[in-house]
Amino acid sequence: MHGSLQRGHLLGEGGFARVYQVQDTYGARLACKVITKSSLKTKKAKTKLYAEIRIHQSLQHPNIVSFQDCFEDEEHVYMTLELCPNGSLMDMLRLRKRFTEPEARFFMIQLIGACHYMHTHQVIHRDLKLGNIFLDKTMNVKVGDFGLAALIESPGERKKTICGTPNYIAPEVLFDTANGHSFEVDTWSIGVILYTLVVGRPPFQTKDVKAIYKRIQNNEYEFPSDRPVSPEVQHLISQILTLDPSQRPTLHEIIAHVFFVRGIIPSYIPNVALKDIPNFS
Ligand code: ADP
Repeated sequence: MHGSLQRGHLLGEGGFARVYQVQDTYGARLACKVITKSSLKTKKAKTKLYAEIRIHQSLQHPNIVSFQDCFEDEEHVYMTLELCPNGSLMDMLRLRKRFTEPEARFFMIQLIGACHYMHTHQVIHRDLKLGNIFLDKTMNVKVGDFGLAALIESPGERKKTICGTPNYIAPEVLFDTANGHSFEVDTWSIGVILYTLVVGRPPFQTKDVKAIYKRIQNNEYEFPSDRPVSPEVQHLISQILTLDPSQRPTLHEIIAHVFFVRGIIPSYIPNVALKDIPNFS
């Protein structure tokens, strides 16, 4: 670890990384992502890590995990990041089972704001999901993990790499490999996230990955009657989860939908919401 940082407890583990809480010389608490160099065996793996660092470093937005610094020693690469002490929306969903629609509006507006900022900076996140949406100490959204992010370097460029997380992956990534994909894959994930927040599980969830892909291809999902949600949110989700990426609403159109315009949007989420249903009425 860097001389001026004091290592605290392990916050979590990802594919290649371990993330620790650390304290700098001024007593500020940060997160530190540690990647073991020996796990970066191929040139491709190294290039991917440098791309993640370069993209994440270039983004500064109140709803994106802020990137502080990166450095290395013989064995490791370190990235210091803004600390998100309240975990991810995935952790919160496990305790809460599902969210109220006012909470969903609050989280979605911040997520869409971050996504709009990324897209105007030519970045596609490509792995938006509850586990990559972190919460700071005042329960504001911080989008993190740019491990699959891509930079669009010329207008109209299409990406061809098949990547993402099965439940959240857009149909064109899987089934239109000739044509490629672009910014609209994040819009699709935003639809999956909205469904997951209000229903409590992802729309295409099923036992094996192949079956999930089949359901995505056929746009096969339903709103379970034992977990009723408003007709407004159902309408918005069905508009976003459109197979043809060019037919999906823009981020502006999503925010202008009646679900957002006519519903309660809390000014903040209290910390008690981590465990219990808050009352916003
Ligand atoms: P990977 O890219 O390898 O999947 P992530 O960036 O998703 O790694 O981090 C792995 C885990 O570390 C996360 O699931 C989370 O528990 C924790 N974590 C990551 N970044 C932060 C952060 N900024 N603040 C707090 N915990 C974090």
